[in-house]
Amino acid sequence: MTTQPPPASIAILGGGTAGWMAACLMARAWPSTRITVIESPEIGIVGVGEGSTPQLKALFDTLGIAEADWMPAADATYKAGIAFHGWADDTPSYFHPFAGQIDLHTQGAFFASTRARRLGADVGAHPDRFFLNARLAAAGRAPLAAANFPFRIGYGYHFDAHKVGAVLRDHALTRGVGHLPRRVTEVVVGDDGNVARLMLDAGDAVTAELFVDASGFRSVIAQGALCVPFRSFANNLFADRAVVLPTPRGETLPVQTKATALSAGWAWDIPLTTRTGNGYVYSSRHLSADAAETELRAHLRLLDADVAARHLTMKVGRVETSWTANCLAIGLAQGFIEPLEATALHIVQATIEDFIAAQSKGERDTFNAAIARRYEGIRDYIVAHYRLNRRRGAFWLENAANGDLSDDLKAIMTAWFTGRDVAEVIAARDLAGYYAPMSWEVLFAGYGHFPDAARLRSSPPVADLGAVDVFLDGCLLNFPDHQAAPDRTRRMP
Ligand SMILES: Cc1cc2nc3c(=O)[nH]c(=O)nc-3n(C[C@H](O)[C@H](O)[C@H](O)COP(=O)(O)OP(=O)(O)OC[C@H]3O[C@@H](n4cnc5c(N)ncnc54)[C@H](O)[C@@H]3O)c2cc1C
Repeated sequence: MTTQPPPASIAILGGGTAGWMAACLMARAWPSTRITVIESPEIGIVGVGEGSTPQLKALFDTLGIAEADWMPAADATYKAGIAFHGWADDTPSYFHPFAGQIDLHTQGAFFASTRARRLGADVGAHPDRFFLNARLAAAGRAPLAAANFPFRIGYGYHFDAHKVGAVLRDHALTRGVGHLPRRVTEVVVGDDGNVARLMLDAGDAVTAELFVDASGFRSVIAQGALCVPFRSFANNLFADRAVVLPTPRGETLPVQTKATALSAGWAWDIPLTTRTGNGYVYSSRHLSADAAETELRAHLRLLDADVAARHLTMKVGRVETSWTANCLAIGLAQGFIEPLEATALHIVQATIEDFIAAQSKGERDTFNAAIARRYEGIRDYIVAHYRLNRRRGAFWLENAANGDLSDDLKAIMTAWFTGRDVAEVIAARDLAGYYAPMSWEVLFAGYGHFPDAARLRSSPPVADLGAVDVFLDGCLLNFPDHQAAPDRTRRMP
């Protein structure tokens, strides 16, 4: 295998979060490469995307940007996980925690309890009882352990998308990345199938060895000029619109995203230090834009308020190949899975990092296959939230009846409902890199997918829940109140 040299020059089309993330990571990996970001200020960025997975912490750690330097600048708060409300009519909410080292001490008890209950034993198996991050969220504590606490806690962030983009832009510019605030009017493709140049609005052109398409849903190079086919996920992810409406910051600062099921989708509630981000992701087959806005306003108790809403169309699916000819597609230009688990930036980051590794080895096919599989692995987990719902209403009943499921998802569901080991199926199918058994079991158990309570037989406990409580309550004492935590980051060196 021959090692390929880094590209001598890269043109990144798009200055949204994806474009600047690529600029930062590529400038770090390839310091001698000439990198230019071209973005049209008139078009602007999509400007939503305010929640992350723990992967974003890894990004800032990799780039050497301290929380104290970026969190206050982006109005950011900590996120321990996602609270799901109303996804099953007859069960309470549940919390999907980000995984951390501490979970190894309690998830055995959770798995034993869910298995016993699936097999008919009347034992407690609601996930919130078993995981530290769920308790942090309930107590409003930031996932920042005291220095003498010997476990790493998984956490992500909430942030202002525009401001996080600006932090990444400033970082890239200090690393020598060029910036052209111009509109691309044409993509010229050569006879060899490679992109030759991007024509700019004033008639001049940008050439490069590698082009990165970060142009958002427009996908100007990949789906536009190169005609890369798009695989839609519309058959099993019905939501294709969003309406967005910010509200003032609440009195408390939750350490969680709240995802509340509504009539034809779900509403997010994302706490920032300066405001609360809200939006309703819904299916346009089941609800008009006006009705969705009214439902969101009612949900937020804003029916009479004079706050403008933004309406967005979402194209859900992925390009067939992320790396095509001399173009890498990232971000919304590459694909999008609706934001229920806030995975978009996670995929952007993984795509760029995997590309940097694959480029030197010339492993295009392996890279494209791995990215496609990642999309599908994540999609299946999101589809499960809808397929397993226990709500009334046309949208929810249609989702519950949806038979368009991948073999992987069918196998995981079969394992759960037949009392088998879910982790075994996930390992056998090599799916743990997308969502781990903990996440899957939290979802099934959180929705209350167990035999009817009337059919359960009394049983001695299979796990010492008292000991779990003592352990987690003790752990909790090592974490500060979230209200104070963003100030604390300001004081950090
Ligand atoms: C409703 C919704 C909620 C979301 N929630 C989350 C979330 O919670 N977490 C998460 O990780 N992600 C979320 N996302 C996804 C997230 O918003 C995007 O992944 C992220 O913002 C990156 O977008 P982007 O950079 O790919 O595109 P954009 O932000 O749209 O940027 C596109 C760029 O391309 C430029 N451009 C386009 N055409 C041209 C042209 N011809 N010439 C010059 N420049 C051009 C634009 O000016 C802009 O700079 C959400 C998305 C939606 C729709």
